[in-house]
Amino acid sequence: MANRIIRLQDIVEEVQKHHPEADTDLIEKAYIFSAKAHEGQLRLSGEPYLSHPLEVAYHLAKMGLGPVTVSSGLLHDTVEDSAATLDELDEYFGEEVADVVNGVTKIGQLVFGDRQTQQAEYIRKMILSMSHDIRVLLVKLADRAHNMRTLGIMEPARQKRTSRETLDIYAPLAGRLGMFRLKAELEDLSFFYLEPEAYQQIREGLFRKKGALEKYNQDMCQFLRDQLAEHHIKGEVNGRVKNFYSIYRKLQAQQITLDELYDLLAFRIIVDAVHDCYETLGVIHAIFRPVPGRLKDYIGMPKGNMYQSIHTTVIGQGGERLEIQIRTREMHRVAEEGIAAHWSYKERRAYHEKDAKRFTWLKQMVDLQKELKNPQELLEGVRLELYPDEVYAFTPTGDVKELPRGATLVDFAYAIHSEVGDQCTGAKVNGRMVPLRTELANGDTVEIITSPHHTPSRDWLQFVKTTKARHKIRQWLKVAEREQSVALGKELLERELRKSGVSLQKLVKEGDDLKQIIQDLSFVGVDDLLAAIGHGKVSPGQVTGRLSRLHAPAVEEEVLPEAPAKRGKEEPAGLKIKDLDDLLMRLANCCQPIPGDPVMGYITRGKGVTIHRADCPYLASTETFRHIPAEWDGAGGPQKRYPVKIQVITVDKPGLLADITSALKIADVNVTKASVETTAENKGVAQFTIQVADQQHLEKVFGALKRLKEVISVRRMTG
Ligand code: MN
Repeated sequence: MANRIIRLQDIVEEVQKHHPEADTDLIEKAYIFSAKAHEGQLRLSGEPYLSHPLEVAYHLAKMGLGPVTVSSGLLHDTVEDSAATLDELDEYFGEEVADVVNGVTKIGQLVFGDRQTQQAEYIRKMILSMSHDIRVLLVKLADRAHNMRTLGIMEPARQKRTSRETLDIYAPLAGRLGMFRLKAELEDLSFFYLEPEAYQQIREGLFRKKGALEKYNQDMCQFLRDQLAEHHIKGEVNGRVKNFYSIYRKLQAQQITLDELYDLLAFRIIVDAVHDCYETLGVIHAIFRPVPGRLKDYIGMPKGNMYQSIHTTVIGQGGERLEIQIRTREMHRVAEEGIAAHWSYKERRAYHEKDAKRFTWLKQMVDLQKELKNPQELLEGVRLELYPDEVYAFTPTGDVKELPRGATLVDFAYAIHSEVGDQCTGAKVNGRMVPLRTELANGDTVEIITSPHHTPSRDWLQFVKTTKARHKIRQWLKVAEREQSVALGKELLERELRKSGVSLQKLVKEGDDLKQIIQDLSFVGVDDLLAAIGHGKVSPGQVTGRLSRLHAPAVEEEVLPEAPAKRGKEEPAGLKIKDLDDLLMRLANCCQPIPGDPVMGYITRGKGVTIHRADCPYLASTETFRHIPAEWDGAGGPQKRYPVKIQVITVDKPGLLADITSALKIADVNVTKASVETTAENKGVAQFTIQVADQQHLEKVFGALKRLKEVISVRRMTG
């Protein structure tokens, strides 16, 4: 950008270009007001302060925005930095302008510190202001763009702070609004101040390759142009070097090195009509082999920020990867200007709400900041929402849900409603039942199946992607865990007390002894104590030990601090394994018990009970007071399957793996993992993880495998 000083006339002309009928009086009035308000003020660079609001307003005008937003740009610093008041703005320029300036001022007043709470507070205010009127954000972005361009004059600490904030918040926000040119500029400027060395390295690297890059670019553009002409498609082709920051990110992710210069270029083909886009894609894929999974059709499935284009990556003549975007002229305009392109022709009062609704992410952010009181969770959530790698999936009634890439069916369920999430038991994707952890793909139609008594599972936390789902699951777990810890603690204590012929009920009724123990161990009440036992923080033996000490003569106390159970050969009550979704009861991964196996419970610290096979070597290495008898009770059922690892040793023969898997299929098991090795003695050693219903089923599987004449042995593995 040249150092030309922007004048009022430049701004007015720019507005008239986009809005020939616009009344520019408002802008002229705003100019005079702003000039008076900032009179005598200087920027750090020594320029008159007014140059800043002029630049901001000019930028907004260039985006195609109308008189209200442009005037707000001219006035954006008057309330904060001069004697002007909001009431004056309201009186002279109307409520809309005053509201926008107020929103911008509020964001500006917050200190963006390193401290999480401050940051979270800042972001909270920003989300609220921009959800109220997105023009607040547009002005703020234009403001930030000019401040970044003139950041050189500031002291280094300030440069870094402002750049960090720009990179973390404003650049992704610009991206969310579809303003990709602005986003790239903000990223590169921030990158320049934050990582000066890396920035220079990329600059120099590109400079060294300038000749080669340009030649490749020209040749490829010409080649593509010829191809279009041959197929009678009218279109423009151009190639450009990606922005520095995105090259830097790719370098960091080690996806490219600076030597692979083709990866530094991106090509764009702009055609007249939508059908030309698809025809062009056909032409390109006929010449070059497409890279699988890299074709994205954002025309059929526009992004939430209205971005449309076809993206594809293909293998070029020399084996290099070429990134190509195909779009129409109108799509291109939207891609460059983003939201502003849509609003350029209508700056009316009614637009905020309607347009805000288009931005699912904005609505989601508003919800997030309402729900997430914890600053760290809020920041994490906002960061997730700001990075727009999203997928779109539909409800059976055709509502579209926008979710981050990698989101699963559970995320989808929570996106519909918290209750749907909490109660979801399964899901159909495009009519087929699939596991809940399945990731969504663009265009999926998802039907969530719920059951009123179903509750969230801790395992979901391992795969959910959205903050909302994570937050809701944790919330539920916290409440449920407490209840279940109390119940489990009660069961454990009762079992221990029974050994010495005491009942918990009686103990609670008589009160004093228990009160004493609770007090000694510094718990608040009975439930608190029971929860601690259920959590494994206190052993039931500790309680009974104290109990016997309360009544036993002092001498005995030292001899037997934790007296073992009396030998009255009464079987201790065991846990019944019924519902394995049960929060505090889980099957151990090490030995993978299945119904029918003799099992033993192990009371973990804070994570309930894990069920191990009775002969599990890991279990044998643990403290026995944490062991608790367990038995299967009605577990399983026709659909319930449990993983088991098995090893099959065979004579080595081609095609054997196929024989084994088909035998497994006939035995009605799913294989979830398989590996095969050949030993020096020419034996095949195959390992499978299969899903079986119970022991009987597993035996059937073993029988089927042993019937294969190539199979030498089959065994279940311990871990
Ligand atoms: Mn400003």
